[in-house]
Amino acid sequence: MNENSTKCIFCKIAHKEMDVPLEFEDEQIVAFNDIKPAAPAHVLIVPKKHLSSANDLTGETALLVGRMIVTAKDIARKKGIYKKGYRLVLNCGEDGGQAVGHIHIHLIGGRKLAWPPG
Ligand code: 5GP
Ligand code: ZN
Repeated sequence: MNENSTKCIFCKIAHKEMDVPLEFEDEQIVAFNDIKPAAPAHVLIVPKKHLSSANDLTGETALLVGRMIVTAKDIARKKGIYKKGYRLVLNCGEDGGQAVGHIHIHLIGGRKLAWPPG
C-alpha cells in the first residue's frame, strides 16, 4: 500500500515533516507519545513504511511487526513500567477502533488497566 505521505499523518511524523519529539528511531521504526494519552505512558510505535492496517501484513512484513513489539518492550523498560506491566494494542479497522490508517502499536501503561476493553 503506497499512500502519499502528504495525506498520512503518521507518514508525516515518521519522515520528519512534522516537529514531533521521538521516543525512539531506527531505520525502520519511530515511536512518539500519543497526542491524547489514555494512561500515564502512551507511546505509539510506527513503521516508517506505510502499511494501512494489520490487514496489509504478510510474511514479508512479519519481521517488521516483531521489531515493533521488541521496540515497545524496550520503551516500556526505559519508562520504568516494564516490571509492573503494560498493554500493547493494535487496532484494526472500523470495529477495531482504528482511527489512523497507518499501522501502529500502542504501548499503554503506568496504571492498572481494565479488561476486557469496551
Ligand atoms: P488508533 O485509534 O488508530 O488505534 O490510534 C490512533 C492514535 O493516534 C490515537 O490514540 C490518537 O490520539 C493518536 N493521534 C492521532 N493523531 C495524532 C497526532 O497528530 N500526533 C500524535 N502524537 N498522536 C496522534
Ligand atoms: Zn502513512
